[in-house]
Amino acid sequence: MAVMDLTETCSEPRGEVSSRHRLILVGPPGSGKGTQAALLGERAGLPTLSTGDLLRSVAREATLIGRRVAGIIGSGALLPDRLMLEVLRKPLTRLRDAGEGFVLDGFPRTVAQAIALEQTLAPGLVDLVVQLVVDPRVLSARLAARGREDDVAAAIEQRLHAFHRETQPMIERYRCSGRLVVIDGHQPVDAVYAQIEEELSAIPATSCATPTGAALRSR
Ligand code: AMP
Repeated sequence: MAVMDLTETCSEPRGEVSSRHRLILVGPPGSGKGTQAALLGERAGLPTLSTGDLLRSVAREATLIGRRVAGIIGSGALLPDRLMLEVLRKPLTRLRDAGEGFVLDGFPRTVAQAIALEQTLAPGLVDLVVQLVVDPRVLSARLAARGREDDVAAAIEQRLHAFHRETQPMIERYRCSGRLVVIDGHQPVDAVYAQIEEELSAIPATSCATPTGAALRSR
């Protein structure tokens, strides 16, 4: 009932992805987060923040922090939360202040990062967390075929390990919040996109309905 009331205050029509939806994509490396984030940017006009892309550009800088980030990415480990949050402080604040929707690809990846995100955005201001699930053997084959600098065997193993150790507990936390949807990432790209679209179109964008995000959390 509360959700019905919220849609009445929303200028975006229901039944399609709004440029105001706020979405987090989670999944192991190679699960298709980057691909789906790019499509959501192109087709739904959602600003996209990819931490992998951002960090790879920091890593190319000939600075102390650039060299440090390059070393960590190359090893397949996650950046320490403090460093990650320092790098993201400005881009996240910009997204929040723009008051529009967004897609986060690759962040948060730990429980501490998820808590920090909530503190930046105000709790409840994420509409949906999409988990892309892909079989580990398929992931390894996809990453080997992609051939990025950190797609070498030792780093792949480390990244998958980091996902299970650090990111899985965060996913469980989102599952408990009721905002998580699980999507089969083996499907063709367009089928995954269509499912995300369907999930998003079933909810009004939070930013249309601030501050009563509690209604959305009860999904
Ligand atoms: P990705 O392109 O999302 O797979 O990220 C590439 C690499 O960037 C990861 O293997 C990590 O070293 C680093 N990275 C990206 N996002 C995060 C994050 N949220 N926290 C810590 N490290 C990250």
